[in-house]
Amino acid sequence: MNPSTILLAKPRGFCAGVDRAIAVVNMALDLYPRPIYVRKEIVHNRHVIESFVQRGVVFVSELDEVPDGAVAIFSAHGVSPEVRRQAAARNLKVIDATCPLVTKVHLEVQRFAREGRSIILIGHQGHEEVIGTMGEAPGCVKLVGTVEEAEAVQVPDPERVAVTTQTTLGVDDAKVILNVLRRRFPKLVTPPSEDICYATQNRQNAVKLIAQRAAVVLVLGSHNSSNSRRLREVAEAAGARAFLIDDVAEIDPAWLEGAACVGVTAGASAPEYLVQQVVAYLQKRGAGKVEEVEAVEEHVEFVPPPELARAHAGRTLEEAVP
Ligand code: SF4
Repeated sequence: MNPSTILLAKPRGFCAGVDRAIAVVNMALDLYPRPIYVRKEIVHNRHVIESFVQRGVVFVSELDEVPDGAVAIFSAHGVSPEVRRQAAARNLKVIDATCPLVTKVHLEVQRFAREGRSIILIGHQGHEEVIGTMGEAPGCVKLVGTVEEAEAVQVPDPERVAVTTQTTLGVDDAKVILNVLRRRFPKLVTPPSEDICYATQNRQNAVKLIAQRAAVVLVLGSHNSSNSRRLREVAEAAGARAFLIDDVAEIDPAWLEGAACVGVTAGASAPEYLVQQVVAYLQKRGAGKVEEVEAVEEHVEFVPPPELARAHAGRTLEEAVP
């Protein structure tokens, strides 16, 4: 049996931080001669990266690959102060595309460190956001990724502990870890507002709704995208068979056998055209009905860095009035 109904999660795809990071690179491409250098992937999506490479962006792992004085963009995941120091020492022209919600977590870590607290960061080892956040207070931040690690973590003074969170965690998983930490450290200080960002939470809520009705859920997103991987896990926990795919070409038709209803969503770094390609594929296989299932309305926007926006507006004006 081929699918007859497609359930589209809403919200899905680009968040405000990804929109902003992509706008930053586009503005830089308008303003500066190529190549433009970006430290790490600007956002974790293969298609976004490939399209920028074609337009003259060079992605580097570290700043020592960037020529002195060149334009270097920091990715949406943020960087540690040490990376900023290296950029200044090399006289690089830095443009910072760090998502403001990642910056918020950095500022919390700075504040907790100033207060002399040990900081426990709930997050995934090796993720760029986690590396950048931990770099704000080297030696003061302990990373915890599982319940077992939360049970085992040791701090110098259990009375002076604060917790922060990677922005793209599974909401339910993070709650369980947080409960362990609260039990172990009754005076645990938490940030005034959630660190797991609105986009992560909203996309997880939306995928839960479709996964309760669909036998199969397809999540558009790259395998190194933390929030996309969480969407697949959340869909599976809600009862669907869930698959993370970079694009329509990765769909195995066998996954869809016997599934009358297929859910589709996209991680915060996956472009909408990839979703529409999957919808077209499912329609070709007989799906007649497309239903959008909305968990919450989203109206979040982040403006680009003001100096970049001013320079870009000036250039646009110059073009308009030669
Ligand atoms: S997923 Fe959240 S923290 Fe990450 S870029 Fe998007 S809005 Fe910012």
